[in-house]
Amino acid sequence: MIDVASKFSSGVKSLRPSEIREILALTENKKVLSLAGGLPGPEVFPKEELAAIASRVIEELGDSALQYSPTLGVMPFREAVADFVRGKGVKVTDNDRVAVTTGSQEAIYLLAMTLINPGDGIIVESPTYLAALNVFRYYGANFISIPLDENGMRTDLLEDSIKKAKEKGINVKMIYTVATCHNPTGVIMSDDRRKELMEIASKYDLLVIEDDPYSFFVFDDDVNFTHLKTMDDEGRVIYLGTFSKILAPGLRLGYMIADRQLVRAVELAKQMVDLHSSTLSQYIALYAIKEGVVDRTIEKARKSYREKRDVMIEALEEYMPDGSHWFRPRGGLFAFIYLPEGVDTSDMLQMAIDRGVAYVPGRSFFSDGSGANAMRINFSYLPPDKLREGIRIIANTAVDYLKA
Ligand code: PMP
Repeated sequence: MIDVASKFSSGVKSLRPSEIREILALTENKKVLSLAGGLPGPEVFPKEELAAIASRVIEELGDSALQYSPTLGVMPFREAVADFVRGKGVKVTDNDRVAVTTGSQEAIYLLAMTLINPGDGIIVESPTYLAALNVFRYYGANFISIPLDENGMRTDLLEDSIKKAKEKGINVKMIYTVATCHNPTGVIMSDDRRKELMEIASKYDLLVIEDDPYSFFVFDDDVNFTHLKTMDDEGRVIYLGTFSKILAPGLRLGYMIADRQLVRAVELAKQMVDLHSSTLSQYIALYAIKEGVVDRTIEKARKSYREKRDVMIEALEEYMPDGSHWFRPRGGLFAFIYLPEGVDTSDMLQMAIDRGVAYVPGRSFFSDGSGANAMRINFSYLPPDKLREGIRIIANTAVDYLKA
């Protein structure tokens, strides 16, 4: 047999496995309670409506819906997306264009391709969405990590960090933020901090990627926030959305709304990557928006996930060992838990899986490898009793791990 691996490009040799996808593979076919992935609760999928819509789309529009389509997406869907996000309080200007993407993950990848030269500085929350870190790392980014607290990114630390990076000769180019219902912590950036972030972005001429899969799932009634895109008068915010959590991730549909020149560059990149996103999915999602299925799914999911969030908090308070702490998620699908010092959650994972539960170790969410005693757990997927049980097992595993 030939040594196929010796033929790999140096870029591919540097790839690390996506921790989440590896854990998902590990837990497949096993009776493991998975708190690892970011999966929507299956009770939320509008199965009957989507079955009816899918067959109507093929009957009524089959010649188009089954065909190749433009790289940026089919026009009625792009228009419906713009109207939909406007209705949710996101400002879309005359200078903006919509690009439909294959999930927002592809949007992140296309942006990295379009914007990052090796060595460019990217400001990220610490912790942040690990699959964005992986993409930016692949393109050679220098990370400037800004800690966060209950009110989101510590924007008071932003300017100093930018200055320090610039002193080192780093070309600081953009801020990547999951400002609303942050992955992995569930916190929401306050509007004061959003304003400060935008002022600093303007002062240092930075682009801002507002990655926003979760703002539909705010659970606490006292939360008010303004999208960064809506605060932007200078065309520097790139807004990313997805249908993964508000309809179905299997459709693989996301979108980017940004300055037309940037979207044109992304279009050229996307022509190379996948020509266009699924035409069939776009028509299905178009009908689902128009017929209110998306809005009904959002309402159903918000209610279900809020209940599960509350069950999770109760279970954490009841079971987690002394010395543990966590952010109380104000929305989204995740909680980020710090176990007592001395627990290494990567090391503990196999033990947890053997006992029937999976989570994502915290380290993956930090660009600098910190977070050894942290873990992300998902609360949207499992039914409440299983969620409770999963947390009980994790807590017991941590106690035994500390004793061992
Ligand atoms: N951004 C964030 C912050 C996410 O949590 C996820 C995954 N849930 C994505 C992007 C990618 O999601 P998708 O490709 O399914 O739209």
